Amino acid sequence: MFYYSKSKYVLFNNCNRRLWLEKYKKEEMKEQVNQARLIEGNKVGDLAMNLFGDYYLAETDPIDIPKMCERTINAINNGYKVICEAAFVYENNYCAVDILKVIDENTVEIYEVKSVTEVKKYHIIDTSYQYYVLTGLGYNVKSVNLVIINKEYVSKEELDLNEYFKIVNITDDVIEESKNVKANLDTSDSILNNLELPDVKLSKACTEYDGCPFQEYCYKLKNIPNEGSVLNLYSNRSKWKQIDSGIITFNDLLKNKCKLTDIQKRQIDYYLNDREEYVDKEKIKEFLAEIKYPIYFFDFETYQATIPDLVGIHPNQQIPFQYSLHILDKDGKLDHKEYLGDGISDPRPDLIKQMLDDLGNEGSIIAYNMSFEITRIKELAYNFKEYNKELYNLIPRFIDLLIPFQDGYYYNKAIGGSFSIKSVLPALFPDDPELDYHNLEDVHKGDEAAETYISFKDMEESEYKRKRKNLLKYCCLDTYAMVKIYEKLNDLVKE
Ligand code: SF4
Repeated sequence: MFYYSKSKYVLFNNCNRRLWLEKYKKEEMKEQVNQARLIEGNKVGDLAMNLFGDYYLAETDPIDIPKMCERTINAINNGYKVICEAAFVYENNYCAVDILKVIDENTVEIYEVKSVTEVKKYHIIDTSYQYYVLTGLGYNVKSVNLVIINKEYVSKEELDLNEYFKIVNITDDVIEESKNVKANLDTSDSILNNLELPDVKLSKACTEYDGCPFQEYCYKLKNIPNEGSVLNLYSNRSKWKQIDSGIITFNDLLKNKCKLTDIQKRQIDYYLNDREEYVDKEKIKEFLAEIKYPIYFFDFETYQATIPDLVGIHPNQQIPFQYSLHILDKDGKLDHKEYLGDGISDPRPDLIKQMLDDLGNEGSIIAYNMSFEITRIKELAYNFKEYNKELYNLIPRFIDLLIPFQDGYYYNKAIGGSFSIKSVLPALFPDDPELDYHNLEDVHKGDEAAETYISFKDMEESEYKRKRKNLLKYCCLDTYAMVKIYEKLNDLVKE
């Protein structure tokens, strides 16, 4: 039996072609499941089940739709007032409601749980499908609600579900949106029954969240090259409109006299004319003149917990658990210091103490994209008031190593359209294995660092030791990279 589902309906609304490709071109799909997000979402869903006290769970493992529907009907008939994963099918359209409150056997309330802090349009689309299914079956749906996370919540020893979750009544919007469901289902049906690939415009749906798994396939159909396309252009807000009007490559942008910023013009020029590097010596000199010895190259690693795992924090608050610090004195001596929590206790108290000690009272603190580090320091100051003054004293000492690149003092073709350290570093040092993140083991980027730290508590001793060592190496490379970039800038302005 084929069932149309809520997830299919949401995909269809996002992009008409996506469902078609899943049916007819599955082999082109590049699956990119974000396991960490999935696990976190499931944990939030499990927590929310307890919001209204005792409940009946209609879900089966593995999912058996007819069985779940049967269990749901039986639960309603047996007088259960709260049913989780309540399943319904109306004209082959299946949906499972996260939490169904049963008022009487014909009257219900829908509560959909989302691991987010704000209601978005797609939540209304998502729940309008459920509303359509339930009202189609003859239920009087008294209200439709989203159970989202209250971002203002401050954690205590015990998680307070009523404070942690926020219930938003979206009934009116859902009723309005539900008027489109039948027509959408008919369109979806005719697209799925047509052997021809649906013609759609590429849009932000192609790159949202972790990116559509059919990106490669759709980009190829539009002849979008991997390099030198409007998608690679720095800060290009018009890319989807440009693609829609057939402007695909840098050459197309020039031919069509598209409006470009100076940085975009330089990127295109260096790419098309294979130029070496652009150096504004005066600007770089001015930038370097601001930096005072000893120079502290500093970088935090952080994790975020949707369900706070420490007392006194907000959901999704960034928690610094590690830092790396290279210190360069005026005689050219380079020292390295670091901190990494144990993954069990709150890393912040010890991190603050050691960080304040390591960073001393004078000298510039260099970070790459310093707003991240400064915001974390302000959060630490807020959470640990006893260090407020000392932490705030660090802030005026920060200098952002991103500036020479983002503000166009230096450019080379290999940087492309991104000035993140992961783009700039290989562009400046293309053949240096010591500076290549690919040569690291276990941890190569920030989200892997966070996942590794969070898993510390579940690791066997040998794995813990190995991953801890590799996490330290990763963060160390972040600040060593800054030292090398700083040295390179100095070399560039040497007469
Ligand atoms: S890549 Fe874009 S156009 Fe292609 S299926 Fe995905 S969202 Fe649709």
